[in-house]
Amino acid sequence: MDTELHLESNFAKELEGLYVEWQAAVIPNPRLLLLNEGLATRLGLSPEALRKEGAALLSGQRLASGSRPVAQGYAGHQFGVFNPQLGDGRALLLGEIRDPRGQLWDLHLKGSGRTPFSRGGDGKAALGPMLREYLIGEAFYALGIPSTRALAVLATGEAVQRERPLPGAILARVAASHLRVGTFQFVAVREQDELLRRLADYAIARHYPDLLALSGGERYLAFLEAVMQRQARLIARWMGVGFIHGVMNTDNMSIAGESIDFGPCAFMDAYDAGTVFSSIDQNGRYAYGEQPRIGQWNLVRLGECLVPLVNDDVDQAIAQLTTVLQRFPALYQEAWREIFAQKLGITEVGEGDDPLFEDLLQLLDAEQADFTLAFRSLSAELQGLPAAEQDRLGIPPVPESWAPWRERWLARVGTVRPLAAVGAAMDAINPIYIPRNHQVEIALVAAVEEQDRQPLEALLAVLAAPYVARPEWRSYSAPMPANLGPFRTFCGT
Ligand code: AMP
Ligand code: MG
Repeated sequence: MDTELHLESNFAKELEGLYVEWQAAVIPNPRLLLLNEGLATRLGLSPEALRKEGAALLSGQRLASGSRPVAQGYAGHQFGVFNPQLGDGRALLLGEIRDPRGQLWDLHLKGSGRTPFSRGGDGKAALGPMLREYLIGEAFYALGIPSTRALAVLATGEAVQRERPLPGAILARVAASHLRVGTFQFVAVREQDELLRRLADYAIARHYPDLLALSGGERYLAFLEAVMQRQARLIARWMGVGFIHGVMNTDNMSIAGESIDFGPCAFMDAYDAGTVFSSIDQNGRYAYGEQPRIGQWNLVRLGECLVPLVNDDVDQAIAQLTTVLQRFPALYQEAWREIFAQKLGITEVGEGDDPLFEDLLQLLDAEQADFTLAFRSLSAELQGLPAAEQDRLGIPPVPESWAPWRERWLARVGTVRPLAAVGAAMDAINPIYIPRNHQVEIALVAAVEEQDRQPLEALLAVLAAPYVARPEWRSYSAPMPANLGPFRTFCGT
């Protein structure tokens, strides 16, 4: 490679006991389908070099210097049921990239073959779900919401047997780290206290380094609180764009606070707190409106793991951890309020504003109004956009029935700033383009069934600029036509 890809292997060096050293399955002819040049550049990698060498390096066929690939162990509660051993059943951590600013990023493969953690699985991934993960990660990046991102999608040239044979793929993924709540559960359930401390200190050094200044149990209590804070903000951001993760198991919750493993995720059109898209979530455990509660449930599981680090007296440790965990509802509510205040152009927000936000959501629910477009309708009106122009952009007018709520809102927005400026500020936080489910499906079907990546490339371009309305992108802002629904997602295996 012209500009050599060098990887560090800090996880492998520091956390023995949490992985198995492993190699990717041999693939005769891997092919680079999508390369994320923007991400490569940010990481200090050469897109040109990756174009040439990426097929071998990002499929695990050739190892970058410094790489010690490992399959990571983790446990997890899946839909509330504990499994002490999940782990990377079809994934490998190749190592860590140090970017030009000195920050470490995991480089990880999904679909790279069976590992000792595969259980019954084949270790493979189908192309459609890997392209989906690429697309959603890029949408999050452009929205400014923390997320893992895809560096590349490769075709393996092999068929993957699902309900029918599908083209196989490997996703090369970049994350702040792949430490999960389930990583802590893996160690805690085995009662490996020394490894638990090493893991916690590794996580703290990597993601919350300021906390290293604390000692004893205080450090781990502060760690829990810091993870809670990031999760509260992350979930509030999801709620603000109508995102439903779909499989918020504890093994899919990142210690670094990024969106991760959003296989069956989807964005809702019409507002409904009960929205579920995943075909396997039959009881609505991971419905839109349940996400904060489930986030807290998962964090309690993390808290349970930390007991031995917090205090030698178990009862005291539990009491101390409980005190921290009880702050989650308030932390979340504050993060949520902050997001909805921004969405509605309110700069100084307080608890007293919650009913205003809740009443709007009730209105949207009652009228089955599109969640994304509702905020753009309100801001377009503030900016005095002519009706014809608004129509060209695909933004519906504010319905008459919202008038009483609108009066309350306008009174709250106040007169300090010109209304046009308030509207412009709202447009900077309320996307007009989200990955609409039918658009994602159109793009994936074309790419997978017809080897036509043009619709996917076009959708990626739209999602890279989600805040600026353009008449030529009108079709991308429209909700799913009723005749295409209801929409269902399937676990990305
Ligand atoms: P995920 O649904 O991708 O979050 O994965 C949940 C668990 O199932 C993880 O332990 C995965 O490694 C494992 N898994 C998912 N798909 C496969 C597969 N095709 N082969 C082996 N393990 C898998
Ligand atoms: Mg997972």
